[in-house]
Amino acid sequence: MQVYMDNNATTMVDPKVVEAMKPYFSELYGNPNSLHKFGTKTHPAISKAIDQTYKAINASDNDDIIFTSCATESNNWVLQSVWIDHIVNGDKNHIVVSEVEHPSILSTCKFLEDNGVKVTYLPVNEQGVVEAHTVRSFITDKTALVSIMWANNETGMIFPIKEIGEICKEKGVLFHTDGVQAVGKIPVDMQSVHVDFMSMSAHKFHGPKGIGALYIKDSQALSPLLHGGEHMGGRRSGTLNVPFIVGMGESLEIATTNIEEKMASIAAKRDKIEDALLAAIPETFTVGDRTNRTPNTILISIRGVEGEGMLWDLNNGQIGASTGSACASEDLEANTVMLAIGADNELAHTGIRLSLSRFTTDEEVDYVINHFEDAVKRLRAISSSFAKVQPTPGGEVQECELHHH
Ligand SMILES: *Cc1c(COP(=O)(O)O)cnc(C)c1O
Repeated sequence: MQVYMDNNATTMVDPKVVEAMKPYFSELYGNPNSLHKFGTKTHPAISKAIDQTYKAINASDNDDIIFTSCATESNNWVLQSVWIDHIVNGDKNHIVVSEVEHPSILSTCKFLEDNGVKVTYLPVNEQGVVEAHTVRSFITDKTALVSIMWANNETGMIFPIKEIGEICKEKGVLFHTDGVQAVGKIPVDMQSVHVDFMSMSAHKFHGPKGIGALYIKDSQALSPLLHGGEHMGGRRSGTLNVPFIVGMGESLEIATTNIEEKMASIAAKRDKIEDALLAAIPETFTVGDRTNRTPNTILISIRGVEGEGMLWDLNNGQIGASTGSACASEDLEANTVMLAIGADNELAHTGIRLSLSRFTTDEEVDYVINHFEDAVKRLRAISSSFAKVQPTPGGEVQECELHHH
């Protein structure tokens, strides 16, 4: 059996989505901007995908949704264009983000810092969440933008977007959210929150890789990142990727239809794994309350078991998991999100992320539980660090700041 437990990194394209995309490669291949029939024949498909996307996030007709090549582009677009519009060509000098944002936000912030922008990296609490009052206390009259993710990719923890949006509105500061881990996983209703910009990515909800979007409230101004022809009303140039746009619309409609049922079904499988591992393996911790987490994610820490060792053992057992950010998993660095929530350095090297999907089966769940428990026995037997934290007779187990279930 092969088990894919890394759905926060990317997902399988739903076969129904592949079917919907197929005609737009070699049959209906026209450029939608062309005036002849080859071009215009693609218009109904694009209109449908736009409608599906608006409906999925309950955007209003006044809002813009602009397709991009990925969420990395959407995130870069907002940060770099707010910089140009409000800092280079305005009187602001400051941006506020959280310290657990995706690298596409954090690296862009580093670039902006090199260009003289002040960036505040907000801390998270022991749940891994940025608290709304923290955001308020760091906004100044020089702040151009607050950018806080809706849900975290490593922990699945959901951030108080409604409260943060209200604070930004009250303070007159633009608010962007990286919605990649929220859209298609939990209900997202743009008319019930005050969000100026939101990034999305299709490959996180069973759509194709290489297509994303930026939601823009009230179609407000934001300089383009890509200049060129007048595609997407001049907001984002580049010939429209018709098959991928079709795939994004279709995958988003499927993901958000009966979303509560889908969430309950995935959460039941996630909880089964989490309960089983916490019960069977001593000195094991998971990050964050389940009630405030995306239904598919577990970040689990097993004292004495290096994350990379575990990943290797799981990989040998045909299980694909992650130690955290896919971009950072090549080196043996501590999990930065775990450090941010106050885990000690040793524990921060033990994080393993399991992320499920609606395609995860009960058989896969049982297989993962069994393999995981055996792997811990194998790895703890050869671990030197675990011996150090074993309680001595009458002694106390080392304190841990994470949630101990
Ligand atoms: C995957 C991910 C991204 C990047 O999305 P791409 O479309 O692959 O560029 C951005 N933010 C978060 C939170 C993610 O999980």
